Amino acid sequence: MSGYADFAAYVAELNDLLCTMNILTWDVRTQMPPEGSWTRGQQLATLTRLVQERFASDHMGRLLDAAEAEVRGEDADSYRVRAVRSTRDAYTIVRRVPAALVGELAVQRAVGQRVWEEAKPANDFARFAPNLKAMVGLSRELADAIGYVAHPYDALLLQYEPDMSAARLTALFDDLKAGILPLLKRIVDGGQPVAADFLYRTYPAAQQRAFALEIARQFGYDLQRGRVDASAHPFEISFTRQDVRMTTRYQENYMPGAVFGLFHETGHALYEQGVDPALTRSALTSDFLGQYAVGGVSFGTHESQSRLWENQIGRSRSFWQLHFARLQSYFPEQLAGVDVEQFYRSVNRVRPSLIRVEADEVTYNLHIMLRVEIEMGLLDGSIAVDDLSELWRAKMTEYLGVVPPTDTEGVLQDIHWSSAQFGTFPAYTIGNVMSAQFMQAARRDVAGLDDELAAGNYTPLREWLTANIYRHGRAFSPEELLQRTTGEGLTPRPYLAYLREKYDELYPV
Ligand code: ZN
Repeated sequence: MSGYADFAAYVAELNDLLCTMNILTWDVRTQMPPEGSWTRGQQLATLTRLVQERFASDHMGRLLDAAEAEVRGEDADSYRVRAVRSTRDAYTIVRRVPAALVGELAVQRAVGQRVWEEAKPANDFARFAPNLKAMVGLSRELADAIGYVAHPYDALLLQYEPDMSAARLTALFDDLKAGILPLLKRIVDGGQPVAADFLYRTYPAAQQRAFALEIARQFGYDLQRGRVDASAHPFEISFTRQDVRMTTRYQENYMPGAVFGLFHETGHALYEQGVDPALTRSALTSDFLGQYAVGGVSFGTHESQSRLWENQIGRSRSFWQLHFARLQSYFPEQLAGVDVEQFYRSVNRVRPSLIRVEADEVTYNLHIMLRVEIEMGLLDGSIAVDDLSELWRAKMTEYLGVVPPTDTEGVLQDIHWSSAQFGTFPAYTIGNVMSAQFMQAARRDVAGLDDELAAGNYTPLREWLTANIYRHGRAFSPEELLQRTTGEGLTPRPYLAYLREKYDELYPV
């Protein structure tokens, strides 16, 4: 065997283990009976340790040395070169982090999540604060171990969003605020009511599923390589491109939740199903830092695809002009007397609200900025955990003009901090921004794209996305992908233009 072949064979086994962990995780979140949780935790911990030991081993170092020697001089963009390079990058970082710190973080995450699950419904931030402090402390240690130049947050971002930094995020947020805050103020001050009462009638889950799945298949989701289940928190997960699953959550008294939720997960799933078969069981479908089998290059890039299919396509007027009659055929009584224009406006209405996951396209990013600014402050020490409850209310007032009456609807609302996932929130906004850049480039490259979309032909768009993004798996960094497909790096201009065009029309001055 050659140096590269030995390396690839070893990585393939690691990918098998990561996929197996994904299957166990899928089972936890969709099927597992409550009493299965302790032993399942042990099973996942054992697999995590096996992957960790094998990946961070001296043996892996030798395999990397040999593979690097063999691919030296080959095309810098080839999958072989990219697989070796991305594995080397992850290996370097993983070797910097002491095993004791990894163990301590794992323990604190498990404890923190349990305490948060009790503190949130009890509106008791003081109960959760000591755990949060512990996790901030450990995350600072993690940042120090990984290493950074300007800001500790930069080190944590490396795990989820390569190419991104605290400074770049701050600049991006300034640009977004300059565009979004005046738009939101104008919409709120205008006070135009949008009827949406019909969305809250009783919609049987079976029909919600049937309609949403019909659309997912039209988008291109392949049920021979996937399945759809119900879960409390919707997600997409893959065990190679051959088995890409998604879930949604059905609320019988609010239909858009499950329908748009499934459009969203379909975007994630199309990414995974579209990865080049040659990358199956390779380093370019393995996230060795997050210990996760995944084909997408970063959290933000993945999110760009869910948001592209959910919002740019699924919340567009042309989409509903085509599909509303079909939706009505599933729900003739619930949608009796509602026309397509009323429906389009109802699923795009703008309302400053307390809860991130219920936010509309205009207010959503403000929820993210608030969280990311707090995360950065916690990491660099300029914000104290004890001040968070108050700071949250102040920022909500500043950005959205609404104040949560409780911490349950405020600082305690998201699960992310309970497991020290500092650095994952930016992905949602980066995804929104990237989705508009990719759509702009697709329109440039595919003649008549909007006519095809209006006619329900999603193949040209999906094929463009596959050729430019999906098939490459993790071969290129987010910034490289943007440069290669759009000709420039991350920029909020197309996204702000999209928001202005859509919402100026929906809420005329
Ligand atoms: Zn998503």
